[in-house]
Amino acid sequence: MTQHINRKKFLQLSLLAPLSLAATPLQFLDNKSGAPCSNDNVAYYKAGDADYETLRKGFNKRIDKRPAIIALVKNAEGVAEAVNYAAKNNLPIAVKSGGHCMEGFSGNNGGMVINMSAMNNIEWVNNETIKLNPGCKLAQIYDAILPKRRIIPGGSCAGVGIGGLVLGGGYGLTARKFGLTCDSLQAVTMVDGTGKIITASGNDELLWACKGGNNGNFGIVAELTFKTHTAPATMQSHRFRAYKVDVVRAKAILQKWFELTPSLPADCFSAFVLNGRTLYILLTNVGKQTAAVQNFISGLKAVTDKTTNTLHNHWQGH
Ligand SMILES: Cc1cc2nc3c(=O)[nH]c(=O)nc-3n(C[C@H](O)[C@H](O)[C@H](O)COP(=O)(O)OP(=O)(O)OC[C@H]3O[C@@H](n4cnc5c(N)ncnc54)[C@H](O)[C@@H]3O)c2cc1C
Repeated sequence: MTQHINRKKFLQLSLLAPLSLAATPLQFLDNKSGAPCSNDNVAYYKAGDADYETLRKGFNKRIDKRPAIIALVKNAEGVAEAVNYAAKNNLPIAVKSGGHCMEGFSGNNGGMVINMSAMNNIEWVNNETIKLNPGCKLAQIYDAILPKRRIIPGGSCAGVGIGGLVLGGGYGLTARKFGLTCDSLQAVTMVDGTGKIITASGNDELLWACKGGNNGNFGIVAELTFKTHTAPATMQSHRFRAYKVDVVRAKAILQKWFELTPSLPADCFSAFVLNGRTLYILLTNVGKQTAAVQNFISGLKAVTDKTTNTLHNHWQGH
């Protein structure tokens, strides 16, 4: 069943869904006592099954969680089935799309993990709008839409899942130009803690809550609709490196960076990483090489050790 949600319903769900998703675990039931059977909507895995090991792992290899059951869902109905099974058997649920949560929130010990990786379709609704499943990885999305000269402002890591990224906000190289990933989100379909399939769009508060606040909180998102933007023709990237920096030098370089970044146009993005004693600064530009951009480049070049420049034609890849 699919239904739209109003303010009253949203408030009810806000209270109900987390309660259900955080139910106290009881013993997992084995096959004899009624473990779930795989079907067209969902395939279930337990320790010892082929693929269990692959499906349970996330990006952060320091986190090693072993769910009692992994539900590899194929569609929203499969998510609802898995949620109902978990609720009935008091299994706590964790949801995993791309598995890039550094803190390991997309896994659990002894509960159920609903794995969305098989839900990875991309469909054009019209020339400017796409419908995605949360298991799509960013590289897959860019590969599908950049050839049509369209883009959504996603993140920069190819393996990140759109599900976790957009529900937490999402920022990347074009965030200053097009906004956060969630700013382009137009509609969601999700399964609540009672197994009901809900859609939210327009001014629905549930959609608003999904724009930064729904990493496993209000329900399990099964479908996401995004408006796309005209992809910039090119992107220039400039990388600055400073080697063997000490505190005094790192501070001086970053003071320069803080001084210069406010003047950069919205076409630009810049970030720094201090990795051991090497300081990396990245500048990207999808627009014109304005005086402010040139000033930034010459200012950073003067205080760092190595600069590399690359020109990317956007619709030829990422
Ligand atoms: C190498 C790396 C690079 C990154 N780069 C960027 C970047 O450029 N920009 C940026 O903004 N962030 C970036 N991140 C952070 C990343 O966006 C978040 O960790 C994001 O939550 C990962 O999404 P995921 O689907 O891959 O992760 P998952 O681990 O699958 O999920 C992350 C969280 O979202 C919840 N969740 C996942 N799917 C659903 C769903 N369908 N319904 C409800 N809840 C769900 C999970 O339960 C978990 O709490 C990066 C992270 C890493 C490790």
